[in-house]
Amino acid sequence: MDISSGKYIVLGFIVIYGFYYFRWILRNRMTFKGETYLDEYDKTELKKVTESLMGDLSNMYGVKVPKWGFNDLTKNDYRGVYIGEIKTIYFDYEMLKTKEYYISDWFSLVVHEFTHYFDHLTLESEGKNWERHYTDRKDFYEMRADNNGEKVGGELYLNYLRDGKI
Ligand SMILES: [Zn+2]
Repeated sequence: MDISSGKYIVLGFIVIYGFYYFRWILRNRMTFKGETYLDEYDKTELKKVTESLMGDLSNMYGVKVPKWGFNDLTKNDYRGVYIGEIKTIYFDYEMLKTKEYYISDWFSLVVHEFTHYFDHLTLESEGKNWERHYTDRKDFYEMRADNNGEKVGGELYLNYLRDGKI
């Protein structure tokens, strides 16, 4: 039989190319559905989105915009954190962008930390000590922040997607 090895090489290329093309389609289809990875946003873009989110949340909850920033939180293995003493929220963008983290997860995270900030202000306005209340009922406040993150974060994410803000 006279089969040139060239044919196999071409066939091999087609198979490999097909595999990568299929993966590309899958990834783009996911992106189309809104599952964009966080690493597709650089720090400046994400800062803009987060600033806008903080503004929207502050309007929704009727409080002033919290102080926030990016920080290295790997020491405590946190994705985000709310520091009550200085009423400031930090996010570890550099760490999260190395993971399979979606922009929709970012929305949930922002709302989660914002909820801690809001609960702090609410308790404070009632003359209560946030630190003590939070420590005593940590599970309750974390669950609340998680639920809010999913619900409110999810809604905001869809709105931003619809309005072409992300
Ligand atoms: Zn939390």
